[in-house]
Amino acid sequence: MPQAYQMEHETEFNHKHRETDIIRWFEDVAEDAAAVQRLTLRQILELNYGVEYLKKWLGDIKIQEILDENALESIYASLVPLSSHADLEPFTQRIADGDTTPLITQQPITNLSLSSGTTEGRQKFVPFTHHSSQTTLQIFKLAAAYRSRIYPTREGGKILEFIYSSKQCKTKGGVIAGTATTHYYASDEFKIKQQQTKSFTCSPEEVISSGDYRQSTYCHLLLGLYFSHEVEFVTSTFAYSIVQAFRSFEEMWKELCHDIREGSLSSSINITRVRKAVLGVTQPNPELASRIENVCEELERADWFSIIPRLWPNAKYVYSIMTGSMQPYLTKLRHYAGELPLVSADYGSTESWIGVNVDPKTPPEKVTFAVIPTFSYFEFIPLYRQKSNYNYQNGNVNSANDDFIEGDPVPLAQVKIGQQYEIVLTTFTGLYRYRLGDVVEVASFYKKTPKLNFICRRKLILTVNVDKNTEKDLQLVVERASQILSKARRAELIDFTSHANVTKQPGHYVIYWEIKGEINERVLDECCREMDASFVDHGYVVSRRTKSIGPLELYIVERGTFKKILEYYIRNGAALSQFKIPRCTSNEVLLKILNACTIKRFHSTAYG
Ligand code: AMP
Repeated sequence: MPQAYQMEHETEFNHKHRETDIIRWFEDVAEDAAAVQRLTLRQILELNYGVEYLKKWLGDIKIQEILDENALESIYASLVPLSSHADLEPFTQRIADGDTTPLITQQPITNLSLSSGTTEGRQKFVPFTHHSSQTTLQIFKLAAAYRSRIYPTREGGKILEFIYSSKQCKTKGGVIAGTATTHYYASDEFKIKQQQTKSFTCSPEEVISSGDYRQSTYCHLLLGLYFSHEVEFVTSTFAYSIVQAFRSFEEMWKELCHDIREGSLSSSINITRVRKAVLGVTQPNPELASRIENVCEELERADWFSIIPRLWPNAKYVYSIMTGSMQPYLTKLRHYAGELPLVSADYGSTESWIGVNVDPKTPPEKVTFAVIPTFSYFEFIPLYRQKSNYNYQNGNVNSANDDFIEGDPVPLAQVKIGQQYEIVLTTFTGLYRYRLGDVVEVASFYKKTPKLNFICRRKLILTVNVDKNTEKDLQLVVERASQILSKARRAELIDFTSHANVTKQPGHYVIYWEIKGEINERVLDECCREMDASFVDHGYVVSRRTKSIGPLELYIVERGTFKKILEYYIRNGAALSQFKIPRCTSNEVLLKILNACTIKRFHSTAYG
């Protein structure tokens, strides 16, 4: 296959592939995106020829004998149906139970990833192979090459990385299960990245994989401070982890300074291998401790504004996923980053990496992702949002039960600028025409590959009857109302989620807020009213006017509630590195936590 299009090495980081080489490679595949996609499809189908899943749909058709690439693409799309996670589940279950026959891939699958489960409410098993680690390393290097064109970093510098592995465990059939990031941190590719790329993570492997996020965070911060002058940038997978790390810093900076002064390690770090690894690196440094203490005393008075460049004076930028459900943390991240640029990181999922940010200068609110056409075979289901009537036309199946009408899936080369799509993946790891559930919009093209704007998760919707509001709609409404909040001095929205309460008629939306600071009840009343009045969805507005949806309620939860939610997910196997607060939930455990922690309730008076 596409030898011409594959990176020469994939596993070996070779210094002759300098940054310009990887960019040139990507420019070539992007220029030829349509052909590369067809070749990628051929390679996947040839590699996994005869597996049980494909046999069911392709029968005895010999892929090698279909010489025309266009014909292969249309035969594949006409014979293999779109699939969802429910179609994959019987296969991943058999793999987990130890079935080693070729079910979805010819090579036995030895690792299963648990998706974070924080967006759809439930964790899912997704196959993870060597290809998954290879593409992770590849996108890492590609994105780094684009970043260093704009924000060059020093060779041999360090990275303050808030990364966390969760536990890996064995399934009944002996397959290793864990989150995708955990598998990656345990892979050779991650070791290659650690050893051979330009910069190094401050924390040793023992800290990343401690299994206790509080202890890891403390050590990441301690080592980050210890190497503060060498840190070239600050990063995490999702922005949430950086924000939560600095919120913790506000509480524990004195203890950190004490440890730096004495060369000691807080007794709260009680995992022997972590203690040994950290104490093996640090030494008493009273001078550094005094310097940090002085800066922190000042910063505390200034509400920690600009803490990152103040404590890490050589950091060039902050790098993390800041789009989608991470966007609400941007205000806080900007506050901590001060003048430092925020660079929004790439777009991917446990199922496959999708796109790279080729314009690191673009503000996170506007960032797009150029699809990498060698990673998977991508199709796009056009989505048309219903505006004013609710009769689905032409009998189109609308499996996501939202208010989108779907068109027929199109290959990558046929997407149109300005159109929204759901992404469909065919991967090297055994997913065939798999609906990812993400809604994206084509913003423009990079050469001939589309640049996507992430819009939202398709299934996360607030709905009572004919109204349909996505996580993005909710985000906009919350953002508007929280501006009222931030005008009130020193008040800050820490986090939020929502629930469509239909237990009583009429049903209504409940939005949960955790806030920092003392806020006047009148202000919160106004925020509640503002949210109710700001949903622009026609179904919502009409239903509110006709009172078939009741007044929106704002529930204020006590401080620490969202941390309890994080801990609930972590106890159930999620990793902090992939954690995302579900923006709408009907998960009973979550609702129980939220309702038990509610301290104030407000009832909207919008719509009379
Ligand atoms: P998981 O596989 O559980 O880690 O979650 C993957 C999901 O996270 C994707 O399907 C997206 O919904 C979301 N996601 C990943 N990368 C981004 C990004 N750059 N911007 C917005 N959302 C993202």
